[in-house]
Amino acid sequence: MESYDIIIAGAGPAGLTAAVELSKEFKVLLIEKHKPGTTNATWYSYADRAKEYGLDDAVAVRTDYIKFTSPSETHFMRDDCVIFDHNKVMEIWLNRARTNGVEIRQEDFLDYQNVENGIVVKTNKGKYSAPLLIDAMGINSKIVQKNDLIKRKDAWVIYGARVKNVDFEKPQQLEYYPLNDDANTYVGIHPVSNTETNFYLFKGEKNTLGNPEELKEKFEEVLKKTQPNAEKLETLSGTIVSGSLKKYALDNIIFFGSSGMLNPDGCGMGFNEILKKHRIFSAAISKAMKGNRLDQKNLEKVAEKLRDQEVIHFQKIIGAFSLYFIKSTSKWDGGVKWLNAMGDDSKNWMRNEMDLKWLKKANIRLHSSIPITETVKMIPLDELPFIMGQLVRFTHKALLSKIKEGVKLPSEVLKVLPGLPGLKSRETDE
Ligand SMILES: Cc1cc2nc3c(=O)[nH]c(=O)nc-3n(C[C@H](O)[C@H](O)[C@H](O)COP(=O)(O)OP(=O)(O)OC[C@H]3O[C@@H](n4cnc5c(N)ncnc54)[C@H](O)[C@@H]3O)c2cc1C
Repeated sequence: MESYDIIIAGAGPAGLTAAVELSKEFKVLLIEKHKPGTTNATWYSYADRAKEYGLDDAVAVRTDYIKFTSPSETHFMRDDCVIFDHNKVMEIWLNRARTNGVEIRQEDFLDYQNVENGIVVKTNKGKYSAPLLIDAMGINSKIVQKNDLIKRKDAWVIYGARVKNVDFEKPQQLEYYPLNDDANTYVGIHPVSNTETNFYLFKGEKNTLGNPEELKEKFEEVLKKTQPNAEKLETLSGTIVSGSLKKYALDNIIFFGSSGMLNPDGCGMGFNEILKKHRIFSAAISKAMKGNRLDQKNLEKVAEKLRDQEVIHFQKIIGAFSLYFIKSTSKWDGGVKWLNAMGDDSKNWMRNEMDLKWLKKANIRLHSSIPITETVKMIPLDELPFIMGQLVRFTHKALLSKIKEGVKLPSEVLKVLPGLPGLKSRETDE
């Protein structure tokens, strides 16, 4: 049986980026059941990220804003957006992987077994062993299913097509707008070249991955109405999952990409997120490999590095609002109003570049652009305990930082928030 340092299952953006990085130091086997890089998605990102990751040559379209339209508001999210020719990205990544000596096998991952010091992987063609297996098999990962790891899964269900623009000489603009129907559907327009555009319908689903086919009829209607002469080249459908797992690693196994439910709630998107995180992930894996610390507990810590808890909590809140925004006519107004209130900073939301300072500003602007009574109505009842818990947590953190700065807290504050760790012992004499 052939043995490797690392086996990566799945050659989507997650598997390939990890393979490119990790093969600089380790002997890597990459297993993919299809031709690597087969995708339904638009791989859009930003000029700075294209440059940082050496993908400038793969940029197909450059635009300087993303347009969000609601029934009464429009927001132009100014940014240097790029859309990649995904075949070129794949070519670049595959070349880098091969140059670094990655062995790529077109085989179907069937199962795995824990053995002493590692994992044995079984495919439809053979068996391979390694101390570490990276699961990058996407949302239908067999490992996630086998171990019943999904704690929560919500989805953006997508149905659309790549079309030839017969009505335009220039590429279309990146754009999102709601259909204002009962099913919470919205339209996404992603130009992929000067002459071709990906048109999608998106529908938010909770607790299910939904069924893209259900959007087919509506999509055909919208396409006919908005692009009567467009030539349909290819159907594009699928789901973008956002959710969480019960565990983010097992002994000698770690998840990367959408198998690890990496897509954040309500903002950002998979490809971009993977691009941003793959080096952090690979560096942490390299350290774990060298220290031979590939047990579940340590690998969970690696996974933690990819998930900034503050940001994730905020994303959950924003996710809840996003679902509300798209629920019916005029709700998008709230969302687009908020984006307008964020001004130039709105792009950090789409880029998923949110630090605590940004979160604070976003929170204040959210509440000043949408009345608090409306905000409370937005929160679904089952999310209310979580959101209230977060508010207490944020308040606690703010108070602790004040205490650290030497500010004396009035005793009334301590009475209102009794028993919060760290506050009692630091009670002030005021
Ligand atoms: C219609 C659509 C539109 C989207 N639009 C965007 C967008 O505009 N921007 C954006 O950033 N993201 C978008 N996404 C999301 C994006 O595609 C995913 O987040 C991203 O592809 C996740 O990358 P990944 O490598 O984790 O998984 P995937 O891309 O799903 O790759 C998983 C790979 O594993 C392989 N695999 C699965 N099972 C096995 C097996 N048993 N054996 C061997 N190989 C296996 C698959 O063939 C696949 O190549 C879209 C998704 C869809 C469906």
